[in-house]
Amino acid sequence: MRTGLRTGFAATAALAAAVALYVSATLPRPAISLEGRAPSNHIAGVYHVHTSRSDGTGTVDAVAMAASRAGLQFVILTDHGDGTRVPDPPAYVHGVLTIDALEVNTREGHIVVIGLDAAAPYPLAGLAADVIEDVHRMGGIAILAHPDSPRAELSWRGETTLDADGIEWINADSEWRDESALRLMKAASSALIRPPEAIASMFSRPVRSFQRWDRASRARATVGLAAVDAHANIPWREQEEPRQSSGFEHPSYETMFQTLVQTVVSDRPLTGDAVVDAAAVIGALRAGRTYATIRAQAWPSTLVFEAEREERRYVMGDRLDASTATVAFTARVPGAPGSQVTLLRNGQPHRTGQGTLIVPDASIPGVYRVEVRLPETDVPWIVSNAITIEGDMGGPFGGRGGGRGGGRGEGPPATAGVVQPHPVAPDVSRWALEQDPSSAGTVRADEGRVRFDYRLGSGIPRGQYAAIAYAPDVDAGIETVNFTASASAPVRVSIQIRLPAGHGSSAQRWRKSIYVDETPRPFVLRLQDFEPADRPTVRRPIVTPLQSLLVVMDTVNSRPGATGTVWLSGMALGVNRLE
Ligand SMILES: [Zn+2]
Ligand SMILES: [Zn+2]
Repeated sequence: MRTGLRTGFAATAALAAAVALYVSATLPRPAISLEGRAPSNHIAGVYHVHTSRSDGTGTVDAVAMAASRAGLQFVILTDHGDGTRVPDPPAYVHGVLTIDALEVNTREGHIVVIGLDAAAPYPLAGLAADVIEDVHRMGGIAILAHPDSPRAELSWRGETTLDADGIEWINADSEWRDESALRLMKAASSALIRPPEAIASMFSRPVRSFQRWDRASRARATVGLAAVDAHANIPWREQEEPRQSSGFEHPSYETMFQTLVQTVVSDRPLTGDAVVDAAAVIGALRAGRTYATIRAQAWPSTLVFEAEREERRYVMGDRLDASTATVAFTARVPGAPGSQVTLLRNGQPHRTGQGTLIVPDASIPGVYRVEVRLPETDVPWIVSNAITIEGDMGGPFGGRGGGRGGGRGEGPPATAGVVQPHPVAPDVSRWALEQDPSSAGTVRADEGRVRFDYRLGSGIPRGQYAAIAYAPDVDAGIETVNFTASASAPVRVSIQIRLPAGHGSSAQRWRKSIYVDETPRPFVLRLQDFEPADRPTVRRPIVTPLQSLLVVMDTVNSRPGATGTVWLSGMALGVNRLE
């Protein structure tokens, strides 16, 4: 018995010694402490943090305390939500500016929304393009979160050419998910001694996300951000977001805040007034005046990246008009003379220098940004935002096409010349009500308009809906649905079409969500912009006969129990007479 115990003890001690030896032999390099400090208008903080209001483990107070201990000046809180919670006003907590933002789950992936100062009038959800449209209407910015997460349900499933304002080029919570068990164990063991370095040891250069970002930046200004995505809550298993509490509060907020930092370059230092300072930080993020640092490699960091043309100075986020005049780029990393500074054009290395890089003679159009690397590292230590020279950049995403306002859905139809609207009879008796058993509605005439009053069933969202349906007596192919709509309050209405059952297939439903409020607005919806409501497919109806046209209120963008009124007038179906 005693011998057995002793043998067990000896074996444990030997194992512990072996682990200690292994850990010390494989420890990641400690973060380099640099001399000096960043200028006072370079404001260091963290972006993308979850608190206990969603699936993080720390309160806002605890998160701010951790940021304060990590020497940071701001924290952008991004709890999961649909925008219907009133955001907390900016505040200084333990000397750290807390900015309340959120992370929205869209059909194609997660989007971080920053800069809303009021609650959304209805849940933000559905197609990413619709959520982004809502965010822009409300004055906020939308960032594609962890677009290349190794987990399919967290990665970006839509186009990158959306009107998003930014993209996460790295997400610390996604980086470890594709590591081997051996590398994870190695990181876990070294995390006992150097936690931030252990986390950063799992980062690899995110080639795909860089490509996405560089491609999006050619078409329009797109800010790139480094997300800590801190939860202080490691998920036990592969699980959905928001994740359940695992009871394992690691890696801690403070560890994450010592791993990855986002610095904004403001016009002036913070003032101590939370509202003024939050506007400055958000304004700098919106403008792309920001750079990221993997702090677990070296800290503190300062990057100065500027361009000059004809005696005018430009900073990160600026876009210069096409011109034949040359542009001089300067990139400096004061305090780290040994670092390798690379200017990239459209994602490809253009010029490289040591500590300081001056490129006096750039003139070719392109997206120019800087990556700074320390010796023997694959992941850049500092990543700037871009200064762009507009003009023909070549390639499928070149030029200035695809920019803001590039008509998704609501512009005139592409083939307007051959489409003739076929008016839908204003007779309300031809509209029929459809609803789930818990919801209710009425449809009636109201001063020449069709008036639809609805009330969705209450309780938890479980597919409640109320709709009015119209069966057109047009056999020809339809190309557009035209109408004018208004509502008693801001809502998203789902306009749907049901196509007749084909050979061996049941009737298909397609949908397009539109924003409607008190002001009557005309809509011309193209069938080719509708998306499948029943099952995913890449095919789209372009010209087709309709079985019915539906105006649907459902729990995608309305809360259970919601009531309201939608008015429609001037309804017409665009019929292609050449068919
Ligand atoms: Zn997410
Ligand atoms: Zn997140």
